[in-house]
Amino acid sequence: MRIRIERAQCVGNARCNAVAEALYPLDDDGYIATDGFDVPAESASLARRGARACPERIIFIEEDQ
Ligand code: SF4
Repeated sequence: MRIRIERAQCVGNARCNAVAEALYPLDDDGYIATDGFDVPAESASLARRGARACPERIIFIEEDQ
């Protein structure tokens, strides 16, 4: 699976980072610092929880085809 983030819509409340700090890095101003990433199988559950934690709903899960 892959995570895709509508980075321009981020409001910088760091909820994703609070759930999964290593997967959802923040920039110096507290906004998400990535547009997305491939998720290793062992991190899938954590990545999903981080995505669900975003109140702006801008973290999207793209499943493998
Ligand atoms: S939870 Fe959503 S809005 Fe908040 S920092 Fe993460 S991506 Fe941005």
